[in-house]
Amino acid sequence: MFKSLLVANRGEIACRIMRTAKRMGLRTIAVYSDADRNALHVREADEAVYIGPPPPSESYLQIDRIIEAAKQTGAEAIHPGYGFLSENTKFAKALADTGITFVGPDAACIAAMGDKIESKRLAEEAGVPGVPGYAGDDQSDETLIQAAEHIGFPVMVKASAGGGGKGMRRVFRREDLEDAIDLARREGKSSFGDDRLLVEKLITRPRHLEVQIAGDKHGNVIHLLERDCSVQRNNQKVLEEAPAPNLPDSVREKLFSRAVELAKAINYNSLGTVEFIMGADDDEPAFLEMNTRLQVEHPVTEFVTGLDLVELQIRIAAGEPLPLKQSDIKVTGHAIEARVTAEKPAQNFLPDIGRIHHIKWPENIRIDAGVQSGSEISQFYDSMIAKVIAQGSTRQEACDRLIGALRSTAIMGVESNVAFLADCAAAPDFYNGEATTSFLGEVFPDGWQADESERETARVCAAVVWQAQRSAAAGYSGFRALSGAGLPARTFLTVQKEGDDPVDLVLSKSTEGYMVTHSDTASTVRVIELSENEAVLMRDGHCKKVTFSNTPEHFYLGFDGRVRTYSIMPTVEYARALAFAGGGSGEVTSDMPGSIAEVKVAEGDIVEEGAPLVVMESMKLLITLKASVAGKVTAVNVKQGDLINAGDVLVVVEEE
Ligand code: ADP
Ligand code: ADP
Ligand code: MG
Repeated sequence: MFKSLLVANRGEIACRIMRTAKRMGLRTIAVYSDADRNALHVREADEAVYIGPPPPSESYLQIDRIIEAAKQTGAEAIHPGYGFLSENTKFAKALADTGITFVGPDAACIAAMGDKIESKRLAEEAGVPGVPGYAGDDQSDETLIQAAEHIGFPVMVKASAGGGGKGMRRVFRREDLEDAIDLARREGKSSFGDDRLLVEKLITRPRHLEVQIAGDKHGNVIHLLERDCSVQRNNQKVLEEAPAPNLPDSVREKLFSRAVELAKAINYNSLGTVEFIMGADDDEPAFLEMNTRLQVEHPVTEFVTGLDLVELQIRIAAGEPLPLKQSDIKVTGHAIEARVTAEKPAQNFLPDIGRIHHIKWPENIRIDAGVQSGSEISQFYDSMIAKVIAQGSTRQEACDRLIGALRSTAIMGVESNVAFLADCAAAPDFYNGEATTSFLGEVFPDGWQADESERETARVCAAVVWQAQRSAAAGYSGFRALSGAGLPARTFLTVQKEGDDPVDLVLSKSTEGYMVTHSDTASTVRVIELSENEAVLMRDGHCKKVTFSNTPEHFYLGFDGRVRTYSIMPTVEYARALAFAGGGSGEVTSDMPGSIAEVKVAEGDIVEEGAPLVVMESMKLLITLKASVAGKVTAVNVKQGDLINAGDVLVVVEEE
């Protein structure tokens, strides 16, 4: 066994690999780009080597620099993780030439399975049927079109070199075929440097099933059971589990024997995954592709087999024979993984970047994370930042634990898909083990939206925690801070949720805690516990545990897996901030509802910048709205006593 391991990757997978390597007593070496100077994987490594600028092509994909880093640090082996160089034949060959061990299969295995056309041919030769279709050398338009017509629509057009769900197009009608071929070709060329395509029958409402393979350098090949990864978005996995739910044993046997046949046929000698697709009501799994690396979803297999797949992979690479026989592999319980991404699920999953201000992970559950509080999410890499993996003795138990864990996760400062994941896991089709790859489209036909039913509760909780924290900071300790005893008789707060209109609240002392009034609704909230980032609140008899965090600009409140971002200020300060805001436009608007106490100008008046225009009243406060530019008053839309809404234009000053 070697004594040192360089991990040529980043994020959660680099951290996960190093965890096992350390447990095995290996010295761990990380590599990093400029964007990852302060990344978690760099902090967790024993040593770290800088390899270049942020774009992957200039750092994590630089074979020479990575080999140089290994030589510099005396690394005896390199683990490529997934993505990046994990399925790169050139890299595996280059390592073989330098005598550094590649933790993965022989370059020949990668080459055989690296492209979908070649691997489909090899699979058929090994007696493993693929999805019906065309995977030939003749790449002319006529041949591909003829093939599609022969297969019958709908079809899937795929880049042979594709991966990560990229480079594939569903085609439902003949007239859309040329465009799809053109697009898939261009995607293949630009993302993978290879424009060859294959055409397959599009399986409708299929399940994605896959088999974990383990082969060693002594000719032994076994499988480590199956996984179901049918919940996908853009052909990328979202939820993954082992074992596959509601799967007849006869199908399971076909999966196992087909996967092992293929792996044996190519003398597979590491960990790998054979992927299949199968119509939900069908019983013939068809070969899709083989991934010759560790898979993102390997933890669910670790739970149900009791094995550490990274350790197994490292031992195989070091030349050890498989420590287990096929008959030793038994399934125990059930495990489900959810991929946590820095994305805005309500805005069509737009990636989000920035600094994670605070993270609260759930307790008593496996979290494979590549980030922590303070981590920076950059635009250069994949949006997947962590995985939450739940296990249980039954599927339902695992599912309940996953949902519970996601609902008590709070990621603040960067948006995440956590609440979306919890909703997916709780949707009946998934919960009952009946999901197909059409799941998301069927459950969220108009896209996903956050549940807004607790809007009011969230706002009230945010205001109370904000105020309790302020009282605590002002020196009112213990019961006085929690109960609001340190408060002046009344506090006027303006609470504005990001993207929403501001709302004015009044917090008053009461024997029960804080009485919070908004328009004519009131509720009572008591702070039972308050620590640095967590609070337990009792609102109208209901207990609520929340996570919170404060920056100079924002107050974040997390519960139920959702994080809401507010700006909270005493109403006077808010009004002052408003009066000084604006600038340029000359339109004077109110950002909160109220009434007009006094109009100080008339149409035609010439005013200086900062001149008082209107005095409005809101929450018993008089607020003077001032001119943000110097000029002529061209419109006065209100008179004394008028009621106004947030956003109303009260006065217009035209700049002169
Ligand atoms: P898995 O079955 O392990 O999820 P994926 O094909 O989804 O495999 O890829 C795993 C990860 O590696 C993805 O999150 C993706 O970012 C990255 N990845 C895989 N293949 C590629 C590729 N060819 N180009 C870019 N990224 C890739
Ligand atoms: P990648 O290399 O990007 O992982 P795959 O061939 O494994 O590409 O396909 C990814 C996903 O795309 C599958 O899990 C499946 O959901 C969908 N898919 C691929 N081929 C087909 C097909 N012929 N019919 C229906 N869905 C397909
Ligand atoms: Mg795949």
